[in-house]
Amino acid sequence: MDYFEIESKLGANNYKPLDVVLNRGEGVWVWDVDGNRYMDCLSAYSAVNQGHCHPEIVKALTEQAGKLSLTSRAFRNDQLSFFYKELCDLTNSHKVLPMNSGAEAVETAIKVVRKWGYKTKGIAENKAEIIVCDNNFHGRTITIVSFSSDQGARDGFGPFTPGFKSIPFGDAKALENAITENTIAFMVEPIQGEAGVIIPRDGYLKDIRRICDENNVVLILDEIQTGLGRTGKLLAEEHEGIEADMTLIGKALSGGLYPVSAVLSNTEIMDVLNPGEHGSTFGGNPLACAVARAALGVLVREKMVENSAEMGEYFLNGLKTLKNPLVKEVRGRGLMIGLEFIPEKTNARTYCESLKDNGLLCKETHKNIIRFAPPLVATKEDIDYALDIIQGVIG
Ligand SMILES: *Cc1c(COP(=O)(O)O)cnc(C)c1O
Repeated sequence: MDYFEIESKLGANNYKPLDVVLNRGEGVWVWDVDGNRYMDCLSAYSAVNQGHCHPEIVKALTEQAGKLSLTSRAFRNDQLSFFYKELCDLTNSHKVLPMNSGAEAVETAIKVVRKWGYKTKGIAENKAEIIVCDNNFHGRTITIVSFSSDQGARDGFGPFTPGFKSIPFGDAKALENAITENTIAFMVEPIQGEAGVIIPRDGYLKDIRRICDENNVVLILDEIQTGLGRTGKLLAEEHEGIEADMTLIGKALSGGLYPVSAVLSNTEIMDVLNPGEHGSTFGGNPLACAVARAALGVLVREKMVENSAEMGEYFLNGLKTLKNPLVKEVRGRGLMIGLEFIPEKTNARTYCESLKDNGLLCKETHKNIIRFAPPLVATKEDIDYALDIIQGVIG
């Protein structure tokens, strides 16, 4: 089969993958169709935190698939309450709204918080405003790209959804200045992932929590990438001991076996929704719930969050010894690590291609940043394997 040619001939051209065709995965490893083995340092953009094809999640998936897959929410299913209970206990949340993709969770949060703005906060009709950050990534729908600052994500897709205002990331003062009487929410990633693993200064999360409290503004943390252990805590908000009013999770909520996302919130906000006002055919289906329950279970039982913190530090320290003068900075929290080259001079993609040729898969984000985000089951030996290859290729 000529994979490259058929994909480019028959498929839409909206991705530019590395030229490797995978057909098997296990833990941190994946294999291509020729039997070559690679360490996965992307983890499907952090959806595969639990490692590829985790046996317990596979078991939950196959068992549930043979019993009951989809009922729609017109009827109840016996997995949903367990999913709610286990997720709320784990994340200390009050309410859950289950969806499928991350973008749907973001859209859901926007709808909920707008309704809250009108019904509870008393904002005048159609005036509600949500503040977001420059260089954000929250997904790909029309409304979400309406508040993106990435020209490639927006060009040619207008007209856009109004009601958003963008401020610099990591700047609490800018948030304070941007809030008006019509502001209902501030939505932000605790660490900007697609922007290149941008970590805000210490105290930023605490500051935005305080500012939102003082102004009756809902704090929405998009933890779709940072959540579920990626940064060495279950949720990245824990690094500063704060709690968001709404938290968005997805990606690793299923360990990569199925699309599952969720909006978590405190009761008051979610209670603005009434039957018929929002929903999803697949959201909260028994297969999704069974898979997510298993994915959360192994994350906790196998101490993957703790391992992420420990291995992340080890990986980062190893990367700090790189001698290549083009390396501007390595930074990270847990196993969410960014390696930034001096701009203009460096094509990170070329490095990613060489790393692939040497047995390590990762992906550039922007032209000059590589993100390293292996599954959270990586051992010290795995990280040494990665460091060896990176040292060989980057120097
Ligand atoms: C991946 C991602 C999304 C979108 O998730 P999809 O499942 O691709 O729709 C939203 N926010 C963040 C921070 C992400 O990393």
